[in-house]
Formats: sequence, structure tokens, C-alpha cells
Amino acid sequence: MTDHDYHDWGLFVDGEFTQSESGERFDVENPADKTVIGSAPEGTAGDIDEAVRVARETYEETWRHVSARERVDYLLEVADRVEERAEEFVLLETLENGKPLSESRTDVEEAIDGYRYYAGTADKTHGDTIPERDDLFDYTVREPYGVVGVIIPWNWPPMHTADFTAPALAAGNTVVLKPAPETPLSSLLMAELWQDVLPDGVVNVVTGDVAPGARLTEHPDVDKLAFTGHTETGSKVMKAAAEDITDVMLELGGKNANIVLPDANIEKAVDGSYDGIFNNQGQACASGSRLYLHDSIYDEFIEQFVAKAEGMVIGPGTDEETDLAPLASQQQYDKVRKYIELGKEEGASVIHEGKLPADLPDGYYVPPVVFGDVTQDMRIAREEIFGPVLTVQRYERVEDAIEMANDTEYGLTGAVWSRNMEVANRVARRLEAGLIFVNNFVNGFLGAPFGGYKRSGIGRKLGFEETLTSSRR
Ligand code: NAD
Repeated sequence: MTDHDYHDWGLFVDGEFTQSESGERFDVENPADKTVIGSAPEGTAGDIDEAVRVARETYEETWRHVSARERVDYLLEVADRVEERAEEFVLLETLENGKPLSESRTDVEEAIDGYRYYAGTADKTHGDTIPERDDLFDYTVREPYGVVGVIIPWNWPPMHTADFTAPALAAGNTVVLKPAPETPLSSLLMAELWQDVLPDGVVNVVTGDVAPGARLTEHPDVDKLAFTGHTETGSKVMKAAAEDITDVMLELGGKNANIVLPDANIEKAVDGSYDGIFNNQGQACASGSRLYLHDSIYDEFIEQFVAKAEGMVIGPGTDEETDLAPLASQQQYDKVRKYIELGKEEGASVIHEGKLPADLPDGYYVPPVVFGDVTQDMRIAREEIFGPVLTVQRYERVEDAIEMANDTEYGLTGAVWSRNMEVANRVARRLEAGLIFVNNFVNGFLGAPFGGYKRSGIGRKLGFEETLTSSRR
């Protein structure tokens, strides 16, 4: 456990923890039992204005003059500090998000990796020379944008914090971060480390919900926005950014297709598909929530999948043996429960519905559900549920599976399972999504660009590319 009092953090602006101009705070709840574990300041539009002013001043007077080599050292130092306090981050994330400790550990490790990866890019980003004639050439330079506004959701707070602040800082920008109201504490814990390591004002954190978020997106002195959240919110962000033609990167929702071909290794496909939907309690933009099984392997696959799901341990995230923990909030609980009822009303059959243990505390627990007899027109097959709910459809012709997979307004990820790599790659190339997994279902690698087609977003995070898109030329 930690001895920190999670009720006393302020907003983090200009290297200091301060109260919001509203003087108000909101409670942060533990989804496992609905107890209040801490609170954070209710940031306002005025707090954002002050944070942006500080970020601008710091950019002009300090940070833009810091050499790339020094930025490498700063980010490596942040990574080391997070690593030193990793277990504190892990516990805090499980307390405020609800997820199992093992998943929080992965998240914190990815945050540390993110700082190190982007530290390595800070002094390797450069422009081009373009030959014109013997006596003339053009050259480009990479320049930071200036002030970058970062808005993140609650599903992987430390990793999202690192994924967006680290490349922005590496490229020489200053940052104003607005974390999600469900999980502000992880970002404030991160701010404690930034306070020790970074010059004042380089990163600023304003907690709260729509009011500070919306102000950040419309602020005329923000040069670039990196937003992660719902597609509907992303659309509002883009409209607000349009007023000043602010550059915007959007990482939005997904309804991702997972296609198992007849020659797949069934055991591997079952394991990967299981992780693909149940990891993070299904609260993953990249989750494999639509499963397409070939007729010839349907029964065998479902038998193995259900046997695995029946062994799932449901409980609080703080129990090391827990596989499926509560959802992150009341809002998530209501929404996912509604979709489970809707699936039944729409006529889908229930292949599996997990049983919640009788002795669970009063938290946001939802059983895993696998729906069969699903058709493309059902809302459970079209809308992002963002919970441990899987829809399964059969297909006979691979062509039909591809068509159904692409029959969605989203396009974030997809997966194909086959022993024949030539066929797998051919199917992968036909899927309309930003990231396709072949014979695995992971949420992405640091070195690979991550982002969506269609209503899943624009722009890419991760990969070396993101450092480039944190600068302009
Ligand atoms: P959300 O859109 O409700 O909130 C996201 C953030 O936006 C929060 O910090 C929120 O306070 C802020 N916000 C709310 N209204 C705003 C406004 N009008 N202007 C500016 N900011 C505003 O999303 P959520 O429930 O926190 O997250 C779940 C969603 O995020 C899912 O749709 C999921 O697919 C998506 N997501 C996408 C990715 C990706 O990489 N593509 C990753 C994780 C989550």
C-alpha cells in the first residue's frame, strides 16, 4: 500500500500543485466496492487558460532552447523515477480504474517503455535536403508545434499519459494534459515525478471533465491537440479545433473484427481471441469484439472458448488471482448491462454468460457474455459496447467474412488466424483498419504506428512516426 493521501493533490501548473479557481473537488471512486479513495480539483476553463499561458511562456523562454540531448536525459530520468515507484502506480491504477493488478503492471511497464522509447527519438529527428540544381538545394527542419493539448480517457491512464506526453516533450513541445475524471490520480502521481525532474511549466495537468476539456480544444494558443476518447467526443474536439485550424490527432472508438480461417491453429486462436475481448474487461478500443468463425471449425472453437471462459475468476482487481475485474464506473456498468439486455431482446442466443460470485463486494461487476446467432444489423454487432461482451458470427466463404468485417463505421484494428501466411496476409490487406494482427491479438507495439481508419480516428500514435507528427516542418 501507499501512505499517500489521495485527497490532497491540486492541479499541477507551473511546477506547483494548486487548487482550481472553482475551489471545488470531485471524488474518485474504487469501482470494486464504490468506496471513495481520493479526490481531485474540478478544473475550469479559467484553469486551462492559466495552464496554457504557463505552457506557452515556458515553451518560449525555456523549453525550446533546451537541446535535444538534454531532452533525452530528462525523459530517461522520468522513466527511471516511474520504475522506482512502479508498484505505487500499479496499486493506484487498480484502485481508481478497477482492473486486475497484473493488467495495471503491464500498463505501467508500457508507460516506462514509452518514456524510454521517445527519449531515444529526441535527438534522432531531423529534416531532409532536397536537391534542385547544382547551385541550389532546399532543406526542411523539424520544429516543435509549441503547446500541445493532450486529453486522455480512463482505460490505461499511465500508458496514455506517457504515449502522448513523451513524444510531445521529446520533440520539444510543452504540454497541458487533461486526464479523465474517473482516473485523475495516476496523472497527478506522474506530476509528482515531473515536479522533481522537469523544469517548471513543461507539463501541466488540469483535472476535471467537459469544461476544461472543451476549453483546451478551443483555446487559440494551443498549437496541436492529441485526443483519445469516444468518436462522438472526437467529433466535437475536431469541430472546436477547426475554428483556429488547430492540428488534431484523434484516437477514437473501435468495433474490431476477428476472423478465424478454417485452417487456423484453434488452440492459439481461442487463447488470442479470449485475450482480445476480455483484456481490460473488454474496455479496449482495440478489442476483438466481433468474432467471425468458419462453419467447419465453429463447434470446436466455441467448445474450447466456453471451457476457458468458464474457468474465469471474477473479483476485485486487488486479488492477484482475478481474471475479470469490475468495469471502471457506474456509467460503464449501466451501458454494458444495457447492451447485454439489448442483445437478448434483439434475438441473439447466449452461448455463455458468466456467473458473478455471490460474495462480491458492491462494485461494478458485469459477467462475460458471448452472443451467438448474431446478424450484421443487430446493434450489438454495430455499436462499441466497451465491455466483456463478444458477438460471434459464422461464415462459409472468406469473402463473406471480409465483407462483414468491413461493414462497420469503425476501422481501428482487426485480426486474422490461419496457418497459411500467404492467405492470412491477403485477408489482412483487405481489412479496412489501421492495425491488423495475424495469429495474435495484442494491443500494439511501441515501434508500430497505432490509429484508425474511418470513424476510429485520424493520425497515428506510437512508433517513430508519432515523434515526427509531434513536430512540423
Ligand atoms: P470520452 O470521450 O467520454 O472522454 C475522453 C476524454 O475527453 C475525457 O478526459 C473527458 O473528460 C474528455 N471530454 C469529454 N467531453 C469533452 C469535450 N466536449 N471536449 C473535450 N474533451 C472532452 O471517452 P472515455 O469514456 O473516457 O473513453 C472511452 C472511449 O475511448 C472509447 O470509445 C474507446 O474506444 C476510446 N479509446 C480509444 C483509443 C484509441 O487509441 N483509439 C484508446 C483508448 C480509448
